Amino acid sequence: MIVRIAIGAALAASVAGAGYAKGSLSGGGFAAAVALGTAVFVAGGWGWSLTLIAFFVSSSLLSSLELGRKESLAEKFAKGRTRDWAQVLANGGVPLLLAAAVLVFPKTARLASLGVVGALAAVTADTWATEIGVLGRSEPRLITTMAQVPRGTSGGISALGLAASLAGGIFIGVTALLLNRWIPGRPGAVIAAGGALGGIFGSLVDSLLGASLQGVYFCDKCGVETEQKVHRCGERTRLVRGLGWMDNDLVNFVGAAAGAAVSILLAVLMR
Ligand SMILES: [Zn+2]
Repeated sequence: MIVRIAIGAALAASVAGAGYAKGSLSGGGFAAAVALGTAVFVAGGWGWSLTLIAFFVSSSLLSSLELGRKESLAEKFAKGRTRDWAQVLANGGVPLLLAAAVLVFPKTARLASLGVVGALAAVTADTWATEIGVLGRSEPRLITTMAQVPRGTSGGISALGLAASLAGGIFIGVTALLLNRWIPGRPGAVIAAGGALGGIFGSLVDSLLGASLQGVYFCDKCGVETEQKVHRCGERTRLVRGLGWMDNDLVNFVGAAAGAAVSILLAVLMR
């Protein structure tokens, strides 16, 4: 167990350290990623860890794509491209909970593996959709009303973004299938289907919540809508739509939980 913890911590620290050095993670984000990566390795070994790394590395690479064009969109996003601890836990909180479940109840390993892959597929699908979707030429439409909204608006969808989200979910499902013999419970082909389905379903839930319940604020000084409670000009913003406590991190976490649930459900139904 001690050796396992040491290997997990070393692996997590080296991957998260590279992210920190590149500016993808803040200090707090680094600490949360090391804790998450260690727990995932201890509970799920190389299978879970490499799937988590596939999410992290692909998302970091996509975030740095055409950075210049995205800087102008920074207005819309609550936080910049440097992930803090809350964003790390928004994306990795579900795998962390499933890691705890496996350590307490080892017999749940197979279902937990499906849940981890479904959750990682959902956050990968959502990140790929956001990072690739904003590069598209057409303006996105809100998933609820189909009204055109500015790029980067939470809940906005586009054909390019949907294709990216489908690709992200399949990428995680196929990665997990290739790693099957190292995945606890060895779920087999169902894991690829669970990943693809979890990715699509999780990112749809994410978009729906982003368009409906997520808090949207307005800065009176600059006259713009934002997701920031304190605008980057320093002015305190006021809530104009949605729920104040439903921020982007919570929306991501719920999307990941939905991805995990649908992936586990698929495996149970196919038995
Ligand atoms: Zn302002």
